[in-house]
Amino acid sequence: MHYAKKRFGQNFLVDTDVINRIVDCIQPQADDVMIEIGPGLGAMTKPLLARLNQLNVIELDRDIIPKLKKICIFADQENMRKLIVNEGDVLKFDFGRFFDEHPELTSGENGPEKKLRIVGNLPYNISTPVLFTLLKQRHLIQDMHFMLQKEVVDRIVAEPKNKLYGRLSVMLQTFCQAQSLFEVPPYAFEPAPKVNSAILRLQPDDRFEHQIHDFSAYEKLVRQAFSQRRKTLRNTLKNLCSAELIEQSGLSPKQRAEELSVADFVNLYRSIYPSS
Ligand code: SAH
Repeated sequence: MHYAKKRFGQNFLVDTDVINRIVDCIQPQADDVMIEIGPGLGAMTKPLLARLNQLNVIELDRDIIPKLKKICIFADQENMRKLIVNEGDVLKFDFGRFFDEHPELTSGENGPEKKLRIVGNLPYNISTPVLFTLLKQRHLIQDMHFMLQKEVVDRIVAEPKNKLYGRLSVMLQTFCQAQSLFEVPPYAFEPAPKVNSAILRLQPDDRFEHQIHDFSAYEKLVRQAFSQRRKTLRNTLKNLCSAELIEQSGLSPKQRAEELSVADFVNLYRSIYPSS
């Protein structure tokens, strides 16, 4: 018996159709290096373990871990060997060290040969920090599948000029292909959340990777541009660059952040930080 803890964002998936649909979208292959964030009582963990040779999970709630293990091992004794539990906060998890501890995964100069596949029904109260933590470690990641609040997924995949287009859209779309896969209604969970949810797929790619050498500087530029949505770039970026510099990057100082494509943001960054 486990009472859901609100402070850990615990909403457990109970709808088998939804669970199967997510696992189908993930398409786990037996030798994938997969990490599940927040396994809870194993709704996703169990079907994932059935398809994988091994699964690492990161869980913050230490009370739930023995229950998770029991549930998974009850489903299949093999899971005793397959399931590797990391107790702790995903926001403090060092994915790089994970590779140090698994030297068989690390190969050449271009990072690990097998990259991480990350999945999870994320606690909604920390979803943005989790996404940024992972974005900073994108070089280690093959893809990510997350259950998130639908509104957050809509923001992430939004296009320029849409009212949901903002910092989250630009940051994630600069470094990843982002796709909203399907919606999940509140009654698929126990307890039911107040909001609709959706499944997001993120695939890091290197379209702009060689142009942005300082992630924090880029993040600051994007944040500042969107800090006052109704204002023009000339105003919002006043202390970062001149109107001439904005023009040099092929934009008008009269434009607003929401009109800029991801490529426009990258060009702007390149004008402001030419040496990097
Ligand atoms: N995956 C399960 C549970 C989802 S609820 C299911 O779909 O049913 C979210 C889970 O994330 C809970 O198990 C909660 O304890 C865990 N969690 C919350 N904050 C966390 C954090 N900072 N790091 C890792 N896990 C966390």
